[in-house]
Amino acid sequence: MTNVPEYFGSMVFNDQKMKARLPHDTYKALKKTIQNGEPLDISVATAVANAMKDWAVEMGCTHFTHWFQPMTGVTAEKHDSFITPDGDQVIMEFSGKELIKGEPDASSFPSGGIRATFEARGYTTWDPTSPAFIRDKTLYIPTAFCSYTGEVLDKKTPLLRSMERLSSVAVKVLHLFGKEDVTRVTTTVGPEQEYFLIDKKMYDARPDLIYTGRTLFGAPAPKGQELEDHYFGSIKTRVAAFMNDLDEELWKLGVLAKTKHNEVAPSQHELAPIFSTSNIATDHNELTMEVMKKTAEKHGLVCLLHEKPFAGVNGSGKHNNWSIGTNTGENLLDPGKNPEDNLQFQLFLAAVVKAVHEYQDLLRITVASAGNDHRLGANEAPPAIISMYLGDDLGALVDAIIDGREYKSAGKSDMLTGVDVLPDFKKDTSDRNRTSPFAFTGNKFEFRALGSSLNIGCPNYMLNTMVAEELSQFYDVLKDADDLDEAVKELVRKVFTEHKDIIFNGDNYSAEWVEEAARRGLCNFRSLPEAMAHYIDKKNIDLFVRNGIVSEAEIRARYEIELEHYVKKLHIEALTMIDMAQKNIAPAVSGFVGKLTETALAKKSLSAAVSVYAETSLVEELSDLLEKFVKKTADLEKAVEDAKKYNGDNLAQATYYREVVFAEMEKLRELGDSMERKTSAQYWPYPSYGEILFGV
Ligand code: ADP
Ligand code: MG
Repeated sequence: MTNVPEYFGSMVFNDQKMKARLPHDTYKALKKTIQNGEPLDISVATAVANAMKDWAVEMGCTHFTHWFQPMTGVTAEKHDSFITPDGDQVIMEFSGKELIKGEPDASSFPSGGIRATFEARGYTTWDPTSPAFIRDKTLYIPTAFCSYTGEVLDKKTPLLRSMERLSSVAVKVLHLFGKEDVTRVTTTVGPEQEYFLIDKKMYDARPDLIYTGRTLFGAPAPKGQELEDHYFGSIKTRVAAFMNDLDEELWKLGVLAKTKHNEVAPSQHELAPIFSTSNIATDHNELTMEVMKKTAEKHGLVCLLHEKPFAGVNGSGKHNNWSIGTNTGENLLDPGKNPEDNLQFQLFLAAVVKAVHEYQDLLRITVASAGNDHRLGANEAPPAIISMYLGDDLGALVDAIIDGREYKSAGKSDMLTGVDVLPDFKKDTSDRNRTSPFAFTGNKFEFRALGSSLNIGCPNYMLNTMVAEELSQFYDVLKDADDLDEAVKELVRKVFTEHKDIIFNGDNYSAEWVEEAARRGLCNFRSLPEAMAHYIDKKNIDLFVRNGIVSEAEIRARYEIELEHYVKKLHIEALTMIDMAQKNIAPAVSGFVGKLTETALAKKSLSAAVSVYAETSLVEELSDLLEKFVKKTADLEKAVEDAKKYNGDNLAQATYYREVVFAEMEKLRELGDSMERKTSAQYWPYPSYGEILFGV
């Protein structure tokens, strides 16, 4: 397997295979659906199903599965074989109906109270815009998931709807600018994915990693990330072998894996693909995370996608690079050489600025999770306050527009290396601002607050919807204008003036920013329960309903699901801690104390002159810690028990878990980690941070 162009996409029923295997008319009809969003005929589906099946069977497949993204946050699949009885034999068959519609029992997937278990019917529907692929001798068909009564139960449907919605309003706006040849606008995404890679043996010895994906105890190793020697550092042999394997698997699946490097924390790495449409990028990111986990297994490693697997070193995030492009190949967020004269660009920029300002709460909500609560606001990830970075050049342009001044773009200047043998090059118009949660990076925005395990469908459908909303308002203002240029200038100036408070080009990690943001009236939701409470604010419900993305009942359901999920996660973490504390940590420390006591007594019986200072002081210190530890474990048990009081009120229960249970967990951990520092490694029941983080 060396010739990448030859095997790239070999496991995908891609355009080339469709063209080769489908009757010409069928192929053309399918392309229309994929490219222009036109409805699909059942006769087309039948022909496609047959061709897909023939290809899959040739590739050794025996099964197919509808692959979907329910509200659990992970993908779901149920495998059916192609076999159909034919006399006393079987033949391999796959009908158009089977391709279009699947019927997994929906009752066991979260629905947030939309549906009772007796209303079990749910449907998966083929999404022809994302290509089918093969994994483990199974044909995977990307699908959307909804209930019998039509409620949306997944993360893909709202994304597809938001893409349609944004396209239809953006096309209308572009037509005002005379771009009649634009028939479709697509949002594009390139998600950079961070992850940890640790030895499987270490993982297997840590119940906290197994049950919760993060370490609940663990004293820091003598070395962390302070030397900054891991970031972009040379990649270790075992990790490189994993990465090569991963690239190969992803390329076969048609995923455009492009860059890979070591990240800041020890054992932390990153993979970034080349961007694609939001829908395919979402499917591919889900696939990437799954393939990462499976490939790691083959190498005796475990891939951790939790946002904060280890205290004291950076957690993992995901950068959502997002832009909007036309079917004619134009990137609508590209300022061009003279952004000051590019009114169309200014208008789209204004739409994003207004959207981020008015719906900053939704952007915060969409990245909220139990795992991400550990990152946002800590000085390693963007803060919980959503603001935008435009860079010097665009920032100055926006200021000039607000003040009604002339502005001349600085343009790209030469970068002189000062060394003859090194080539000179053009430098970017703005430096990077790594601290901003929502940064303009040349021809796209980089939304940086996502947690590493998040399904990117959610932030993207919210982003698309809010920008669509603003564009549709702009369209209404501009559609009857006599002088379009003047009307756009006036509108853009008004929008920048009213929404400039969302723009912040400084250091987002500073304490001054927190104060300044409060003065500007920006939201600062430090945790999921705080943020989630605003999900169902009227303006947010109106946004989704008005744009036809999800109904009020569906939003309320999503809100309940997220809160419930949060409670369950924290509950499992608390139970895991109690289990580890009682079954392993307390007995281990007690055993070590017993051993020290025995040693001290034996020494004394040998001669009264022998010093037992070491043993005695350790016994005193550890006994004291152990007492506190055991009592704190009981406190935590009680806190978990008391949480039942809030059964039936998800918001109150989530808030309680954050404020009470989580606080108790932090205190218990502190005591546990203090004991780990003092206890013999021979007695400590779990691998240390040093062994885990530096073990590969
Ligand atoms: P930077 O160096 O500014 O981070 P890169 O070119 O390295 O930019 O891109 C980072 C990520 O952004 C990659 O995943 C890339 O594919 C993605 N990206 C680039 N252009 C676009 C675009 N128009 N839309 C969405 N994502 C994009
Ligand atoms: Mg990065």
